[in-house]
Amino acid sequence: MDAPFLDGRPKRLLIGGEWVAASSGRTFDSINPSTGKVIGEIADAEVADVDAAVAAARRAFEGPWSRFTPQDRQNILLKLADIIEQNIDDLRLLDVLDMGAPIRRTRRSNRVVETLRYFAGWATKLHGETVPNSLPGSVFSYTLKEPVGVCASIIAWNGPLGATLSKIAPVLATGCTTVVKPAPEASLTALRVGELIQELGLPPGVVNIVTGGGNVGAALAEHPDVDKVAFTGSSATGQKIVRAAAGNLKRVSLELGGKSPHVIFADANLEAALPVASNAVFGNSGQVCYAGTRVFVERPVYEEFVSRMSDIANSLVVGNSVDEATDIGPVVSQAQLDRVTGYLEIGRKEGVRTAAGGSRAIEGDLAHGYFVAPTVFADVRDEMRVAQEEIFGPVASVLPFDSFDEVSRRANLTAFGLGGGVWTRDIGRAHALAASIKTGMVWINSYGLGDPAMPHGGTKMSGWGSEYSIHGLDEYLDVKAVWIRTDV
Ligand code: NAD
Repeated sequence: MDAPFLDGRPKRLLIGGEWVAASSGRTFDSINPSTGKVIGEIADAEVADVDAAVAAARRAFEGPWSRFTPQDRQNILLKLADIIEQNIDDLRLLDVLDMGAPIRRTRRSNRVVETLRYFAGWATKLHGETVPNSLPGSVFSYTLKEPVGVCASIIAWNGPLGATLSKIAPVLATGCTTVVKPAPEASLTALRVGELIQELGLPPGVVNIVTGGGNVGAALAEHPDVDKVAFTGSSATGQKIVRAAAGNLKRVSLELGGKSPHVIFADANLEAALPVASNAVFGNSGQVCYAGTRVFVERPVYEEFVSRMSDIANSLVVGNSVDEATDIGPVVSQAQLDRVTGYLEIGRKEGVRTAAGGSRAIEGDLAHGYFVAPTVFADVRDEMRVAQEEIFGPVASVLPFDSFDEVSRRANLTAFGLGGGVWTRDIGRAHALAASIKTGMVWINSYGLGDPAMPHGGTKMSGWGSEYSIHGLDEYLDVKAVWIRTDV
């Protein structure tokens, strides 16, 4: 199965409305993680290309784009939603071939299109306020919401289509401009989105795309003419971005890693909880930022839960992401495979009980790709590395607990604060735990639900700020206070 976009031609950078080669002429390969084969050649940008892209974004921001009305921007986002919807199958296939997303999983929802339409609606509803003040005399005061300016959108590889569009949509809604930097492991979808954006007839430079490695991201993060960085990636890189942003104190929003607790009380509806908890950690081969990787199960149902989750893990079809039957595709790269199998070894050395999986999957054709068997580690303890560190693979750490007070304390025993889940039929207990879990998102009797109208983000080492919702939009807006003496 091939996507029309994969026509053998090297993919270029989108700078100022033109597709250009990297100034060094260098390229890097994109690899299909299901097969280990090269599927694309991509321009490897360097600092000079970043400078050109930022300059193009600045010219657009201060020039023609600034004259677009809110209605114009709303119409552009609605048109982009239509174009993406018309091309959704090919875009999903690029995610399948480039990062290894299982094809059935990519069709689960129409979220990317809904997100564009959601942000389209906001473009005409952004406004400041008139604020009554208590000053003597006649003083009128109001606020304005203004676009932050040139934004760098630096993204991870684990959901290329959604990540690209969730960064571009608020930029267009607010009147900012952007330089998008996809991850080298999966840049093709963003580049195809760039082609589709060209059909909108935007002024050159509103959306630019530079591909390459961490050096390209770093150049954007420290660039003196970038006003904001919106970053999705690991906590370690997030820390580097905060340091790099200090030069001009640019605004920073960070969507980072997690080690999210998923708490199952003994009174939970296990029939409902088991498939959801399994999908929360094995889905997308565990390459989900809010994956529910620390599964706390109340002692009376602990052994039953471990055994039934292991049955589910063993029944999942691990295979090439293009196959309709595939539940679990590969992890994204050889480096990610080494990292995940390294953690399988660490878990064993730490003394966990391997209840399912525990190794690379290498039967038949799987040996050519980067597949890991869905793994259930039982009898995990809080202090173990497999309970503390983000593995980003299909590995569940299952921990027993005995009381509400105990689990509400232990759920917070990590540096991260992204997601969390609670399963119980006791609604009071559910709300109490949701309140005590220090994360940006909590799901009760469900996991991973999302909607463009709800914020998505983390606390602690999982990030700053949110994406989606009015809160996500505010990350792209400055507020200005205006004062007027009306008695002079
Ligand atoms: P990563 O941090 O290695 O890379 C992310 C992006 O940053 C890539 O585009 C990369 O090229 C770039 N980059 C690397 N070094 C940089 C630097 N010094 N300065 C600027 N940019 C730099 O992360 P990854 O391995 O691509 O992605 C996996 C991580 O992303 C996981 O930790 C996952 O939890 C996280 N993630 C979080 C969310 C969320 O919404 N919270 C969503 C998806 C992924």
